[in-house]
Amino acid sequence: MATFVDRVVLHVAAGRGGHGCASVHREKFKPLGGPDGANGGRGGDVILLVDPGVTSLIDFHYAPHRSAGNGKPGAGGLRQGSNGADVVLPVPSGTVVRTKSGELVADLIGAGTQLVLAKGGPGGLGNAALASTKRKAPGFALLGEPGEEGDFVLELKSVADVALIGYPSAGKSSLIAAMSAAKPKIADYPFTTLVPNLGVITADEHVFTMADVPGLIPGASQGKGLGHEFLRHIERCAVLVHVLDCATLEPDRDPLSDLDVIEAELAAYEADIPDGQHGAYGKLSDRPRLVVLNKTDIPEGKELAELVRPDLEARGLRVFEVSAVSRQGLRELAFALAEIVEQARAARPPEQPVRTVIRPKAVDEVPFTLTFEDEHYVVRGTKPERWVRQTDFSIDEAVGYLADRLNRLGVEQALLEMGAHEGDEVVIGDGDDAVVFDWRPTLSTGAEHLGPRGSDDRLYE
Ligand code: GDP
Ligand code: MG
Repeated sequence: MATFVDRVVLHVAAGRGGHGCASVHREKFKPLGGPDGANGGRGGDVILLVDPGVTSLIDFHYAPHRSAGNGKPGAGGLRQGSNGADVVLPVPSGTVVRTKSGELVADLIGAGTQLVLAKGGPGGLGNAALASTKRKAPGFALLGEPGEEGDFVLELKSVADVALIGYPSAGKSSLIAAMSAAKPKIADYPFTTLVPNLGVITADEHVFTMADVPGLIPGASQGKGLGHEFLRHIERCAVLVHVLDCATLEPDRDPLSDLDVIEAELAAYEADIPDGQHGAYGKLSDRPRLVVLNKTDIPEGKELAELVRPDLEARGLRVFEVSAVSRQGLRELAFALAEIVEQARAARPPEQPVRTVIRPKAVDEVPFTLTFEDEHYVVRGTKPERWVRQTDFSIDEAVGYLADRLNRLGVEQALLEMGAHEGDEVVIGDGDDAVVFDWRPTLSTGAEHLGPRGSDDRLYE
């Protein structure tokens, strides 16, 4: 089965931050002139940007993996690493972004609206930036941090003004082709069109868009066929048009029962949408709709249309007898639709102004937590885990700096209070990123007064 392009899973990876540089300024006769290692550049972000020129998510269908550039490492002589390039992905207005588990991240509406989907990792500090009065010449630098990465589901609901709904082969694609400049593919059998066709219709000074919603068959609301995928497209259309086939040869079908079947599908689909999530035009059942009796160029079709017309009008529906082939009645239909669209647009709340959507970050309530699990102590928290990622464990001085930071945060104190002993295993973080230490307490010995551990003594000579 063809994949429907208006729902894609996008894998994004922001750039890694460049590592900081540990370097010492060198001049003739002044071999150790102080730290001059610069910071690494930040990694590039992956950003979604609403672009009115983009109408589908098809590009992501073909290229679902997107990553931004890495920051460059800092260098000696205080040469800062350059930042990684951002990747800006243009998306259509109306793109809904969710996490893979279905949590809503953002509903991107209005040209220029932006969402930083994955933030680049910060660059590591160079030893120049790490120098302090206590630690005049650090012999190490911090590592750049990895950028955020993740999988997101992008969904586009159609933003057409008018949705054409009806059985396969009722003539929806033909109507769009006949009424607009769009040239959708038309064929003689059901399920020809898997992607909705979009047409731009003009009626004097009025311009509106019309989409056909293919694949609406009995059972569509239960996910039969591509039902759900297509029903999603109707949600943002202001006006619904039932296209009824007056010339079908299928024995158990006629315009009135076709209408009932399609309405039942809409109702069943709508029943699954929670209150308050019905979109700008409200509930489908309240949306203006009219009826097009198509294929009246065929004599039997014309007869049947005239037969069912009074019934439909008795239900309060406006009825248009047309032919997509002979183009009869199409102008009248276009003007009637233009008028309804105009009214619906006027009644609709304005689109939100351009804005930048920020993904809310979970904020730690406490700086860290300490637990005892499976014979070892586990430290968790944004800060300690971040500091671990920044640490180059091949350099003792860098490890010493990490220990000082953890100490200042209160980790050692907490370990003492929990009864940890020298040599106990302390794990920081979870999973692949976790690091294990053998704890060597410093607090009880007053070692924190002895100045920074792991300093490179040669630099103080
Ligand atoms: P859709 O599935 O609703 O998009 O239907 P199509 O537009 O693909 O049309 C299905 C078939 O009906 C095609 O063979 C069309 O040529 C035919 N058709 C569509 N509209 C008319 C019409 O007004 N008159 C006649 N005679 N045939 C039509
Ligand atoms: Mg079609």
